[in-house]
Amino acid sequence: VKEIGKPERAVITTCAYCGVGCTFRAEMRGQQLVRMVPWKDGKANRGHSCVKGRFAWGYAHHADRITRPMIREAITDPWREVSWDEAIRFTAARLTAIKDRHGARALGGITSSRCTNEETFLVQKLVRGGFGSNNVDTCARVCHSPTGYGLAKTFGTSAGTQDFDSVEHTDVVLIIGANPTDGHPVFASRLKKRLRQGARLIVIDPRRIDMVRSPHVQADYHLPLQPGTNVAILTAMAHVIVTEGLADEAFVRERCDWDEYQDWARFVSDPRHSPEILEAVTRVPAADLRGAARLFAQGPNSAIYYGLGVTEHSQGSSTVLAIANLAMATGNIGRPGVGVNPLRGQNNVQGACDMGSFPHELAGYRHISDAGTRSLFEAEWGTPIDPEPGLRIPNMLDAAVEGTFKALYIQGEDILQSDPNTHHVAAGLAAMDCVIVHDLFLNETANYAHVFLPGSTFLEKTGTFTNAERRVQMVRRVMDPANGYEDWEVTQLLAKAMGLGWSYTHASQIMDEIARLTPSFAGISHARLEAEGGLQWPVNDAAPQGSPVMHVDGFVRGKGKFVVTEYIPTDERTGPRYPLLLTTGRILSQYNVGAQTRRTANAVWHEEDLLEIHPLDAENRGLKSGDWVRLASRAGETTLRALVTDRVAPGVVYTTFHHPDTQANVVTTENSDWATNCPEYKVTAVQVSASNGP
Ligand code: SF4
Repeated sequence: VKEIGKPERAVITTCAYCGVGCTFRAEMRGQQLVRMVPWKDGKANRGHSCVKGRFAWGYAHHADRITRPMIREAITDPWREVSWDEAIRFTAARLTAIKDRHGARALGGITSSRCTNEETFLVQKLVRGGFGSNNVDTCARVCHSPTGYGLAKTFGTSAGTQDFDSVEHTDVVLIIGANPTDGHPVFASRLKKRLRQGARLIVIDPRRIDMVRSPHVQADYHLPLQPGTNVAILTAMAHVIVTEGLADEAFVRERCDWDEYQDWARFVSDPRHSPEILEAVTRVPAADLRGAARLFAQGPNSAIYYGLGVTEHSQGSSTVLAIANLAMATGNIGRPGVGVNPLRGQNNVQGACDMGSFPHELAGYRHISDAGTRSLFEAEWGTPIDPEPGLRIPNMLDAAVEGTFKALYIQGEDILQSDPNTHHVAAGLAAMDCVIVHDLFLNETANYAHVFLPGSTFLEKTGTFTNAERRVQMVRRVMDPANGYEDWEVTQLLAKAMGLGWSYTHASQIMDEIARLTPSFAGISHARLEAEGGLQWPVNDAAPQGSPVMHVDGFVRGKGKFVVTEYIPTDERTGPRYPLLLTTGRILSQYNVGAQTRRTANAVWHEEDLLEIHPLDAENRGLKSGDWVRLASRAGETTLRALVTDRVAPGVVYTTFHHPDTQANVVTTENSDWATNCPEYKVTAVQVSASNGP
């Protein structure tokens, strides 16, 4: 503060890191951010924050920011800085030529969970209305797409059921595949507060996360399952609940499809699904599992919180279905203190999904094949919409390698680093005729780009983010964009150059269009958010003040749907060549691939990715903490340092994925969720051996 001087003005805005959605007062001096102060009236954070939101904003002013557009004919050519006008003309001409030659389905786009709802909505509108295909996808493909599938199928809509305040009424917290202390720190503090007040805790995680045992919190049960066995463990819990008469059949009869419940109950009751039989698969002691199941069923208010340890598996969607089954069977839906709560990773992953970023859905999770919904959008946009679902990200890359997919507009995502099987991503990108990267920094994906369009940070734009509790909150421009444009304006420039008659002059007009086209957003406008603060969708005539808790009187789909989920082992097996199972996660001070957190002037941000390995496995390999190790799978290999710890069980190793030097995704495989293609980041068979370093 001394160096920069005293602030002259302040603007209230929303954090751009995780799905908690903390509100901050951005204190400014001229065009320089002086400090971020957590705002006491923030509905999601109530004056609290974590280190990332509070301190990791230096990237906004970092010298690495690219602020002028660049183009090149071929990816082997050097970049050429050009005017915005030339860059947009070059890009539009290339896209149009590809569309004329190869057809609309040869083009696609990727929306960003780091961008606002308004920006995301415009990218999918450009793809659908301008490119003419439904080849639009989002980074949720690699994180919460199974949540979208599973919760839509069972409850009728793809979102968490509760607000954060709900935890104050919870008696039993079940955390599965999430590490709130590192991933969602402000909400973790609220969880811990409730646990200190006497709520009970069950943690299902292969690793002993902080919540299992921290200074004031001790889990009643930690079930350290074998990576890849989520469905087996949830089935075993359901077995105990049904066979011991602990299900809430009155709730199920009233709220759910009774016939489907009976089918499901028969399935889970089968003796082959008992904890004692499945212990051989999950490696969780049957007595612990029985105890945890009884505790959960007896609540009386039991809430489930989960993260990417649930979704990033070949059975990710099945696990989400199994979680929903468990909540319905025990009557834990539709009131404060209960529910199914995905802890969303990125700040606006909920919003990106809400805004129609999937190839089969228009905004508000309405299927593209529905002629009535399509005609609504066609009338508003004045362009036809392809009735066929488009390609997902992995399918776009496959089609590029096969020669049928030619152009990709990527807003705010570094797919080369964040998507699985890096070599395959590179091959797909290299095969395209036009890759457009719209981002803050020249990221790894930009090595394969023909156009680089400079992006704007959350401090340089106005719009909205939607947090993990469906709360739509204002993001306010606190400084001028370093590149001259907010991201939605760049998308509009491109749309206009491709002949579309867009004429937005403010992001609020985009939100008005979203509200006209999306029933769950019907009552949302910037004016209302400014006057009242964040609102939780659905906000419409049926819920004018929003919906903190969903499915109160009935499920969105009508009757809750039980789906039988058979445990199917992952193809990723250990063997003599790859004897250990790798799983991955985050640390508090870093964020995803570190594009922002690594560009901040504080030593804490430069912690390296480490490989956690159990003392027995380390001893077998002659390793000690700090040693360099080679981590290899059938997909690739990398080098990093070891951390010997009993946080992980024997046979399991763990690392984070924040540093480009490590590139953990070189090791992960092409395995993916059966329903959504979400990559199986959380289980990879690996070999670990001593190394001399990179
Ligand atoms: Fe930002 Fe999440 Fe930290 Fe809040 S908890 S300050 S939203 S990163």
